[in-house]
Amino acid sequence: MNDPLVARMRAFGTTIFAEMSALALRTGSINLGQGFPDTDGPPAMLERAIEAVRGGRNQYPPGPGLPELREAVSEHRKDHYGLLYDPDGEILVTVGATEAIAASILALCEPGDEVIAFEPYYDSYAASVALAGAVLRPVTLRPAEGRFTFDPAELRAAAGPRTRAILVNSPHNPAGTVFTREELSVIAGLCVERDLIAITDEVYEHLTFDGAPHIPLATLPEMRERTVMISSAGKTFSVTGWKTGWICAPRPLVRAVQTVKQFLTFTASAPWQLAVAYGLRHELDWVSGLRDGLQAKRDRLTAGLTAAGFDVYRPAGTYFVQTDIRPLGFTDGLALTRELPDLAGVVAIPTQVFYAHPERGRHFVRFAFCKRDEVIDEAVARLARLGKEAGDGE
Ligand SMILES: *Cc1c(COP(=O)(O)O)cnc(C)c1O
Repeated sequence: MNDPLVARMRAFGTTIFAEMSALALRTGSINLGQGFPDTDGPPAMLERAIEAVRGGRNQYPPGPGLPELREAVSEHRKDHYGLLYDPDGEILVTVGATEAIAASILALCEPGDEVIAFEPYYDSYAASVALAGAVLRPVTLRPAEGRFTFDPAELRAAAGPRTRAILVNSPHNPAGTVFTREELSVIAGLCVERDLIAITDEVYEHLTFDGAPHIPLATLPEMRERTVMISSAGKTFSVTGWKTGWICAPRPLVRAVQTVKQFLTFTASAPWQLAVAYGLRHELDWVSGLRDGLQAKRDRLTAGLTAAGFDVYRPAGTYFVQTDIRPLGFTDGLALTRELPDLAGVVAIPTQVFYAHPERGRHFVRFAFCKRDEVIDEAVARLARLGKEAGDGE
């Protein structure tokens, strides 16, 4: 049989995470590929999920999500960012940020519309744009002074008459950049001038380091009215398997996204929603502790990777550190990550798979540090062999 998959999805075979996680299992390697924590979320919040199941909260919640969670999200937005969203009509609970992104693009982009995204990008962006029959316009983030950023002229040049939306991910996976107010102002200026919708992926909003502030794009002038702001409990509370996210946006945008979302999943699982509502109200101190712990893990892994001979871009947020492999004598991250289990017993992700122009990311490899200290230490000890072997003139 010919490939039964629709043509517009054929470029999206199995994800690199499936390949690399299988490789880690097969070779017994340490997996610093996929970004999930190897420790649990706040115990009292986990307990609330169990109570919800035992207490019979097991039937369909309302389409927009349980009022308990929508109210908790609304208060959290107000307290944290001074943003006001009505829990009744301006907040929609989704099955993780992933569904929020897909439903937003499907709801807001006509076939042929263009969507700008910064590359490297989270892998679901290109797939969601393709599903909608829309066209992705990548703008490349490049290293400058130790962090990845964009050229404002390149961003402006990417916007044309068919541009409908821009996807903005900050803190940025996989580059580790937290956009500054200046960078966000450039993006906002373009959105206002060209009347674009901003779809902001803010799943790492609480996980920024060295006091770097997370500034939601919606807080900039004239942006709240055109922004679909997306968050998720997965990264904030170390419960990536709960797949509970939400969007905050003006009523017409929420109504549009909900129209699509209701036929994708109708609603998200009830017990997690109650537990996440509890987390947003009572566990933000736990989240601060998580952030401080992650910052120390970032330092642990960046020091180890630097000692092993990589050029390391120190991330200002997220779970990930970006490295340049050329100082070790390698040029292709995909080839290296496929060999890395044999060379060093470690699995990582070749950053080039997150680009529309893979050649621009050929020499970058992404490592996750959301792992227990002893796992990071063992990985670093193994990776130290790489430089030695390269030095031996292998
Ligand atoms: C993990 C991640 C997501 C997915 O979030 P879920 O809530 O698990 O769907 C979306 N965007 C980025 C940048 C991520 O790293």
